[in-house]
Amino acid sequence: MEKISEAVPIVIKLDINQQEINELLEKSIETSKYLYGDKGYDKIEIIQEARHKLSEFSGDEWRTGWSVKMYHKGEVENKKFFNRMNDALLWAQNPNLFDDFPSFNLEKRDNMCFQPSCNNIAIIEYELINEYSDLGLLLDKSDLFGNDKKFRRFCKFHSDRGDYSREDCNKNYKEVPYENTYFNDQKE
Ligand SMILES: [Zn+2]
Repeated sequence: MEKISEAVPIVIKLDINQQEINELLEKSIETSKYLYGDKGYDKIEIIQEARHKLSEFSGDEWRTGWSVKMYHKGEVENKKFFNRMNDALLWAQNPNLFDDFPSFNLEKRDNMCFQPSCNNIAIIEYELINEYSDLGLLLDKSDLFGNDKKFRRFCKFHSDRGDYSREDCNKNYKEVPYENTYFNDQKE
């Protein structure tokens, strides 16, 4: 009769000290407030592409198919290749794709302009004076989680926010000193 081995408890030792935990917690405090409408991908491409198939058994050939590429802030975040255009179109219109929006490079994104679809680097930072709901209702500061200050950053083309919106307008922003360190680091 086969002997069933006893279950051995698995102990995972986390190799992390208290200082690292504190740093991680500090980093996780969210101070960026993205604009309504900045949700999900900002560009979808469906392109016919040639593929060179190499095979010792069946022979080599050029094949063609359809590549769907979904972008956010200039980077491909999701892509898939199909042999038929109909399948590519069907896949691209699946609303679940937008629920599964992948996590992206937050550090880079936070140093880009917060205007949805803009891929420019941010040059100016604003602190929000008041926060409003999506319907434009003033939110009570004492009810806001953590009472943290919230910030948005913009490129030179989108730094003038106009006067229409209640939250996203010039008079609801206070400019704060800002240096875009992420992109400076990338240049070195
Ligand atoms: Zn911009």
